[in-house]
Amino acid sequence: MARAAQSAGAAESGFLPGTSIKSLLHDGGEVVGIETDATPGKVLANLVVDCTGRGSATPRWLPELGFDAPPESKIEVNVGYSSRYYKRADGAQTPITIVYPKPPAERRAATLFAIEGGRWICTLAGWLGDHPPTDSQGFLDFARSLPAADVYRVISQAEPLSEAVPHRFPANLRRHYEKLARFPQRYLVMGDAVCSFNPVYGQGMTSAALQSEVLAKTVAQGLDVRLAQRYFREVAGIIDAPWSLAAGEDFRYPEVHGPKPSGTDFVNGYGALLHRAATRDARVYHSFLNVSNFAGFARHVVQSAECGESDAGEFRSFAERVRLSSVRPLPS
Ligand SMILES: Cc1cc2nc3c(=O)[nH]c(=O)nc-3n(C[C@H](O)[C@H](O)[C@H](O)COP(=O)(O)OP(=O)(O)OC[C@H]3O[C@@H](n4cnc5c(N)ncnc54)[C@H](O)[C@@H]3O)c2cc1C
Repeated sequence: MARAAQSAGAAESGFLPGTSIKSLLHDGGEVVGIETDATPGKVLANLVVDCTGRGSATPRWLPELGFDAPPESKIEVNVGYSSRYYKRADGAQTPITIVYPKPPAERRAATLFAIEGGRWICTLAGWLGDHPPTDSQGFLDFARSLPAADVYRVISQAEPLSEAVPHRFPANLRRHYEKLARFPQRYLVMGDAVCSFNPVYGQGMTSAALQSEVLAKTVAQGLDVRLAQRYFREVAGIIDAPWSLAAGEDFRYPEVHGPKPSGTDFVNGYGALLHRAATRDARVYHSFLNVSNFAGFARHVVQSAECGESDAGEFRSFAERVRLSSVRPLPS
C-alpha cells in the first residue's frame, strides 16, 4: 500500500520500510491517502492499493467510510503445515516431488523441492486438523505415513539443516469486491487481500502477479469513477478458475463446509481421474501442472489422445456418466 502512495509534496512513489498503515484518509467518497504509525504520519496519494494480505482491514474500513463490506466466501479446511530444510546430496536427481492425498480417506500431503545452497525444503501438510508435528521423530513418522514413500525415502537419509517451522491455515477466503455496487474512488485491493487460497495448491503468488497486470492495465485506462468496477471485474475473472479448482478440491472432504462453487462435483470427478492418470503419464501430469499454475486454461487439462488407452477409457466413461458428449479438452 505504501508503495502506491506518494508522500505529500514528494514527486515519486517509494518505500516506507517498517511502517504500519493505521487507516485511510478520505474526502467524501474518495480515498486520498493513508495514515501511518510513523513519520510521515499522513501520506497523500493519487491511488491507494491495499495489498496487506489476508488480514486486510478494508472490510472494516469500508463501513467507516459509508460503504458496504464485501460479501465473503469462506471454506474451512483447518490445514496445518510444517517445513524443514535438509542437506541435498550431490547428484540428487529429482528436483520436485509432490505427494497428494486421495480424499476423503487420505488427508496428508508433502512436497520436496531442490532449492539453492544445496538444500531440500520439505513441507508436510494435513487437512482437517491432521497436522504434521514439528519434532524430528514426529516429522519423520508423518512423512512415513504418506500415501507414497518418495519423500520419506529422501528425508530419512538426509541431514536436517533447520528445525521444522509450523503454519496454520484455517480457511480459503474470498472477498467479492466485484459484487459491490459502490466503492470508494481511487482505491483498490489486490492479492491475498482479495482472495487467499489454501496454500497446498500453490495458487496465491501467481494470482497476485496476474492481478498486478490487471492493475497496470486498468490504471493505464485512467483513474476515473469506473476504475474499481473495471478492475474488480477483471480480478474476479482471474480468481474464478483457481478458486473453483482449489476450493473445489477441498470439498472432496465431506467435513469441509462453506459455499460450494458451481460445477465442483464435476470438476472433482474429473480431477480424481486426472490425478490417477498423472501418476502414470508425464504428459497428463505436465498438462495438469500447466493449468494449476495458470499457464493453461482449465478446458485444456487433458484430451484422451494425450493419455494412455486405459486412462482415456476412464475419461470416456466419466463423460458418459455425467452425460457429456465428450470430455476431451486440451489442444493448446
Ligand atoms: C505456508 C504457506 C505456503 C504458501 N505456499 C505457496 C506456494 O507454494 N505458491 C504460491 O503461489 N503461494 C503460496 N502461498 C500463498 C502466498 O504466500 C500468498 O498468496 C502471497 O504471499 C500473497 O501476496 P500478497 O502480497 O497479496 O500478501 P502477503 O504476502 O501476505 O503480503 C502482505 C504484506 O502486507 C504487510 N502488511 C499487513 N498489514 C499491514 C499494515 N497495516 N501496514 C503495513 N503493512 C502491512 C504484511 O506485513 C506483508 O508484508 C503460501 C502461503 C502460505 C501461508
